Amino acid sequence: MKNKIKSVKGTYDLLPSEIYKWQEVENKLRSIFSLYNFLEIRTPIFEKSKLFSRSVGEFTDIVNKEMYSFLDKGKESLTLRPELTASVVRSYIEHNFQQISSIHKIWYYGPLFRQEKPQAGRYRQFYQFGSEIFGSAYPESDVELIDLAYTIYTKLGLKNWTLYINTLGKKENRNKYIEILKESLFPYKDKMCANCKNRFDKNILRLFDCKNSNCKKIMNEYAPLIIDHLSNDEKDYFEEVKSLLDQLNINYEIDPTMVRGLDYYTNMIFEIRSENLGSQDALCGGGRYNNLVEDLGGKFTPAVGFAAGMERLMIAMEKENLFKNESEELDIYIAIMNKNVRNKAMQIVKEIRNNGHSVDMDLQRRSVKAMMREANKKRAKYSIVIGENELQSGEVNIKTMESGKAKTVKIDKINDFLSV
Ligand code: ATP
Ligand code: MG
Repeated sequence: MKNKIKSVKGTYDLLPSEIYKWQEVENKLRSIFSLYNFLEIRTPIFEKSKLFSRSVGEFTDIVNKEMYSFLDKGKESLTLRPELTASVVRSYIEHNFQQISSIHKIWYYGPLFRQEKPQAGRYRQFYQFGSEIFGSAYPESDVELIDLAYTIYTKLGLKNWTLYINTLGKKENRNKYIEILKESLFPYKDKMCANCKNRFDKNILRLFDCKNSNCKKIMNEYAPLIIDHLSNDEKDYFEEVKSLLDQLNINYEIDPTMVRGLDYYTNMIFEIRSENLGSQDALCGGGRYNNLVEDLGGKFTPAVGFAAGMERLMIAMEKENLFKNESEELDIYIAIMNKNVRNKAMQIVKEIRNNGHSVDMDLQRRSVKAMMREANKKRAKYSIVIGENELQSGEVNIKTMESGKAKTVKIDKINDFLSV
């Protein structure tokens, strides 16, 4: 026996026996995005590396540590996309979306790649769905987007989750706050963990995310909150978002320490967290990013978006028992007695499929008994055995698998039988 080749660490196979759950969720997602009149976009799996360093941010975990980058023919650095907003914005600019319409509502779905430590709910290839609204600087677009995410989890039947919101203010004001934060925390820098010391100068906001108990204590006691350093405009904006959410009966909590991991956010940010997921509990995260289109070379376009992980959603739904235990049924299984009838039987199979019924048949020339076991295993509604007698008489017995009852039907009437 030769050596087996195993899958790459942090990746997984979605097996045929499980895929129906994913398809069920994917179909629901598609229909909800349509209800909100979002259109789908599909962009390449890889992009130029600088797209992500310029948008996500040089000093974020994603760009700093997690990107799968490689040199294309030894020349240009390319990266397997670690997130999708940057790609969507690149496409928006490249295809002059702005000239087509002043507002665009877009959704996406696909695999992403991050070289992080694999653990429960954290993979190196994972799927996200998400959406973006380009062209509105008003709170109603924040709220339409949050409502969309909220509706998705509600309609999927998920119960144990909470929506958290916060605001980061605009860039200029945030930079002022960052200086205040640095001053307030500087006296305690030496007592922090190595990671926080490291992030202190480059990305101090992420100190709020540290799980180290000592760092947490320092942050709780000495870190001023951005929410107390907002301008009046920023406060008003956040108040308007909240009051619209209230009016739509969207329940939320304010998390004044939430900062999110990417650099490009401005003003409102939000996260949906599951109570069933342990430490990787974020199902979905997003916010407003008014400067990104301009930063990537487009015309100023305010925007807001979210991204949501599929795997964590599936784990949470599994924990709440939201999937039925079975995959789709097969309409009919056809057992072929011997080589004399094989050609004709295959024609019959094709004919039934052409009429829109799912059919499976024996491909291994086994005994009729083995084929009937197979029909059961495949959860066929009906089965037929085709032999010389059947072809001669032009009639078959269609057996209902559940009851074991059979009915004699003319071969050219099988489709009519299945259609009722
Ligand atoms: P986290 O702090 O949980 O790693 P993040 O801030 O890196 O999240 P985003 O980049 O905002 O996450 O991605 C949005 C969502 O994508 C997350 O809320 C999560 O559900 C999912 N996600 C992110 N990274 C992974 C991963 N490595 N494996 C599986 N899902 C992921
Ligand atoms: Mg992360």
